Amino acid sequence: MKKLFASLFGFTVTFLGAQPNFDQVQITAEQVSGQVYILYGAGGNMGLAVGDKYAYLMDDQFAPLSDKILAAVRALTDKPLRFVVNTHWHGDHAGGNANMAAQGAVLIAHDNVRKRMGSVQWAGTERETNPAPFEALSRITYNDQMTVYLDPVNSMHLLHVDPSHTDGDTYVYFPEQNVIHMGDNFVDGYPFIDVGSGGDIDGLIRNLNMALFIVNDDTKIIPGHGKVMGRGELLAFRDMVLTIRTRVKQARDAGKSLEEIQKMGLTSEWDASKGQGFINSERLVGAVFETVD
Ligand SMILES: [Zn+2]
Repeated sequence: MKKLFASLFGFTVTFLGAQPNFDQVQITAEQVSGQVYILYGAGGNMGLAVGDKYAYLMDDQFAPLSDKILAAVRALTDKPLRFVVNTHWHGDHAGGNANMAAQGAVLIAHDNVRKRMGSVQWAGTERETNPAPFEALSRITYNDQMTVYLDPVNSMHLLHVDPSHTDGDTYVYFPEQNVIHMGDNFVDGYPFIDVGSGGDIDGLIRNLNMALFIVNDDTKIIPGHGKVMGRGELLAFRDMVLTIRTRVKQARDAGKSLEEIQKMGLTSEWDASKGQGFINSERLVGAVFETVD
């Protein structure tokens, strides 16, 4: 295997709060279905699908973790890691791209992932991310949908959803395995609507409704962050997001300022369980205020 180029990789690695101590991070894996696994480390959840000839990774976290991630993949399958799909451009999901490409993987993502990674970005409007090198950019991009055939039976469907978390979000759906990776459209916490990356609360609600249409009671849902969940948790998340959206819109339509609305306690029943992470009540209300129609 080629030497990894972690030190050359210019991504900001502090995407979700304080910089993790990558030396301490362990990559752990769980089988989600017959051919799909989830891998946890630091950053966004990774998925791994094993086909008849190749292995397919969904997201690759941070560059300093690439060696550990590759070792975890090799422990699960002897098939070569040939493709990496990015669910969106954020550095805690796509930070390992250059390393994965250097060891032979083809990077696949929505058009807007490549556009954003290739130019200066302001994620969350306060954090500058430099353009990624060519090696870290998608070699194959798609616009609306793409189907990848894993073997004679199983397929992987990349579905571009409406601008919500960012404007380049992909759901990765495995109909035969009854598994879907929703990226950061679904997280165990408050959603991050990255307005600077084209995020939009109304798109998020549309996408959650679309996901509820796809899944059934047996579907295993890989969220962007958090443990594997099911339809019940997705429904509760949609209801929470929709309720907060409705409350903020009513207050905004009544002429209240953002500062006033942020003090109204409109998210109070979820703050303790969902609002203690990267996105707190104030940030969520701010993004809803800014983008709700
Ligand atoms: Zn993200």
